[in-house]
Amino acid sequence: MYFIFEIAFNSNKNYIANLIRAYAEQVGIEAEILQTKDKIVMIFNQDDEKLESFLLDMQDMIPASLFLGEGKHYFSEEKPSLIELSQTNLPVNIAPCPSCQKEMFDVSTRRFYYPFTSCNNCGSQHSFLTKYPYTRENTTMKFLVPCSACEDERAHNSLRKNYPLISCIECGIGLRMLSKETEYMALDKGDYRNLFKASAGAISAGKTVLVKTMHGYRKFFYPNRDLDAIKKIKFTDKKLDIGLARSPYSFNQISEEKVGLSTLLMVNAASFNEHLMLVEQEFNALLSIERPLLRVATKSDAMKRLYGSSALVKYPDDGMTMLLAAEAVKHGLEYIAYIECESTEEADFLVDFDMPITAQKDTKLFINQDRKLFVSGERIVYPTIVENQINRVTVAHDLACVEVDGVNIIDSFEVFDSVSTQEIYVLDTEEDFESGHSNETQFKQYEASMLSVLAEYDKVGQKAIGVHFDGTLNFLYYNGKKVINAVPAIEFESDNLWEKISTLRDGSDRLVNNYKKVYPEVWKRLDNLEGNMDIFEVTAITLGLEDESFEGISAEAVSFLGKGGLQIDTKVKDNRFDNYAFLTSIMSYQLGDVENNFMCYSIYESFGDYIGELVPQLCDKVETGIVVLMGETFANQSLYGRIEKTLGHKNPLMSKNFPIGKENAVHGALYL
Ligand SMILES: [Zn+2]
Ligand SMILES: [Zn+2]
Repeated sequence: MYFIFEIAFNSNKNYIANLIRAYAEQVGIEAEILQTKDKIVMIFNQDDEKLESFLLDMQDMIPASLFLGEGKHYFSEEKPSLIELSQTNLPVNIAPCPSCQKEMFDVSTRRFYYPFTSCNNCGSQHSFLTKYPYTRENTTMKFLVPCSACEDERAHNSLRKNYPLISCIECGIGLRMLSKETEYMALDKGDYRNLFKASAGAISAGKTVLVKTMHGYRKFFYPNRDLDAIKKIKFTDKKLDIGLARSPYSFNQISEEKVGLSTLLMVNAASFNEHLMLVEQEFNALLSIERPLLRVATKSDAMKRLYGSSALVKYPDDGMTMLLAAEAVKHGLEYIAYIECESTEEADFLVDFDMPITAQKDTKLFINQDRKLFVSGERIVYPTIVENQINRVTVAHDLACVEVDGVNIIDSFEVFDSVSTQEIYVLDTEEDFESGHSNETQFKQYEASMLSVLAEYDKVGQKAIGVHFDGTLNFLYYNGKKVINAVPAIEFESDNLWEKISTLRDGSDRLVNNYKKVYPEVWKRLDNLEGNMDIFEVTAITLGLEDESFEGISAEAVSFLGKGGLQIDTKVKDNRFDNYAFLTSIMSYQLGDVENNFMCYSIYESFGDYIGELVPQLCDKVETGIVVLMGETFANQSLYGRIEKTLGHKNPLMSKNFPIGKENAVHGALYL
């Protein structure tokens, strides 16, 4: 009799199944761990005396993951017959697993406060990869020789069997901390710990610390808009004589604007609910081992002052950030903030190491109830294995799909050696890329995005209607062979704006005059716009938002908790969206004293209504029931909610394993 335990798992990533295998090996329980396209199945012998303790301990060994779902167990006389996923050894780029984290905070281990602690199935591995195949020889760690303890682990530790990036404080990467006058090298356990302690101390005292992390350079600081308050905090940690106590106090000012645009790093999970309005799914996603970026509504007054109605939030995602955060907690901080930047960024302190790394673009996640969508980015999603029956290489947004040893991998372009291929498909905006191939085809973003989604749902070759909304809104028709831009967006030109608005219809000139009187500053700015701004930027300026972009409007809309009702005029002209009518409508509401967050919410709602009205018409016209939504703009609660209402009955398809934004093109181009 078998005991069978199944957990839903919605990805082809194999680090969770592999971790379970490794733990089973470690405790010496006989188990078969299988992974199919939607679940992980564990098969045990019912009479195994280790079974109970293994299942209990597993809860602490297996990290939370974005891809994990409900579990169930049952007894069976026979083993279930399953179609297993193929496996390949790809470098991951996620947070350390629970067991590696435990090592980092256990003073008796060889990795106490060692930020590069990782195992076969966790940590920032991709940062060190220089090319495929993924072996130590092909990483920037190739010149580091593992010590005998690491060699021993490589042979016997089930979590680190043949692990390409094995290292410890003894044989691994050294850290140093620099101020303008001094340099401090971390050579042993105590040093590593002290370095992070000092860094966190500096941050809590209002200094900035530039840190090389596995995701590139980040400038960390304690976000505060009240400079007088922060000046009262004195740095008192004199025990660490590394120039901190001596260096004269100079508050490295982070401008107000930069605070608003920084990423909020919650260092203490216990204070999430004090500062942020989180639903359970968002809370779990932030803590998942994938550690995505999430835009969430702010709750506490402190957060509202710093970030307005919503903030881009994350929980520490790599060894460097995690150790810094752990020390920040000891300094009594609940959150800090960082800005992604270059190595040359000005800061009070620098924490650095001498190992080249390549950073992946961080990944934003959107959550609406039980649906999770990757919005944009590379990390977490790539590298990945894809099906590819044809001899074709695709290139888009610095990503490429290339065959390595019989499997097709999508990853950053630089990590592939030169390859031979029958044909190459390149995104038409990929300007820096020269293939030199005689059989090169260029493709458009919207074509590839649409095919990527259709391929994920096995609908390639069937007629479909698509909506591509990435700042501009386009309606697409796929006839089973080709994607056609059926209702393209009307070009929007932001120069001579007032002239265009005042001639829109009778009475428009009166509105313009009124507006000039009530909002003279905004009027002036809009009078001097360059011609190439998108409608969202112009709308954000009109509303006087701090973040003058699409993001700014989204952020504002998130904070509106009421019910809708404001009808923003989209004045559909031959079914096309009229930007000028849209702006005019916003201005009249503004003159009527409508609150900004209500207006921003209504903007998305109106877009939702417009899409909801047009798509069914297009579907009827070409006789299809298949609807595809793509583009980053859909990652917005109010728009998404409205689309659910107006188009929900059509079950619109959206990317599952790829970002809904531009980074799905490299996959879709395989199907063009
Ligand atoms: Zn690990
Ligand atoms: Zn070692």
